[in-house]
Amino acid sequence: HLSKRLATVAKYVPDDARMADIGSDHAYLPANLALNQRIDFAIAGEVAKGPFQNAQAEISGHQLTKQIEARLADGLAAIELSDRIDTITIAGMGGTLISDILEQGKSKLSNISRLVLEPNVGSEIVRTWLVDNYFEITAEEILSEDNHVYEIIVAEPVDLKAIYSDQEILFGPFLLKEKSAAFNEKWQSQINHLNEAIKQMEQASKVPSEKIEEFKREISLIEEGL
Ligand code: SAM
Repeated sequence: HLSKRLATVAKYVPDDARMADIGSDHAYLPANLALNQRIDFAIAGEVAKGPFQNAQAEISGHQLTKQIEARLADGLAAIELSDRIDTITIAGMGGTLISDILEQGKSKLSNISRLVLEPNVGSEIVRTWLVDNYFEITAEEILSEDNHVYEIIVAEPVDLKAIYSDQEILFGPFLLKEKSAAFNEKWQSQINHLNEAIKQMEQASKVPSEKIEEFKREISLIEEGL
């Protein structure tokens, strides 16, 4: 049984995919997809020993060793050309780490037809990387679970660079159109957070006024989108 967050990532993995789940930890996502006969093959990539062992235990516990391979590797180094991977999932990390992993693994992306990414923070960093590297966003979801708001970004390669406004990069082109309850919740709490920070800066001495202005500009940018 997957969390709502991972179930939403799973939904965007195509049927019969050959997938690589990078930073898989317990390999819950590929294990669930394999048990539901949704995928052909999966790599569960992990850079850390403990999580790698968690993945191994989950895979062998479900007798999935023929379908899922746990690999101890940094980022996309877990993928070999001969694996014929077509889908990559990366969930539960910050946007900077996700884009660093994609950037460092660029050479492994030529045969990929879909990326399913779930940045915990900094989704605008992921969107910027996608645009710069000839991926277009084909779907997005935002959901709230256990007092956190999560965003899932689905992207596919394109020949011509996709064009998005600054607002679409920040909010997500689909999420901005949809303006769901979870979306409003996320950005309202971001505004509250920035207002709180401004209050504290104004009370403290020696905070340059430019810094405070920067936060106020960020608030107006967000308010324009809501
Ligand atoms: N993907 C799972 C999920 O969404 O529930 C687990 C998320 S867990 C918070 C992040 C995992 O990413 C950790 O197990 C960590 O070891 C792994 N990780 C971090 N950097 C990585 C890298 N460069 N390559 C592979 N795995 C990485």
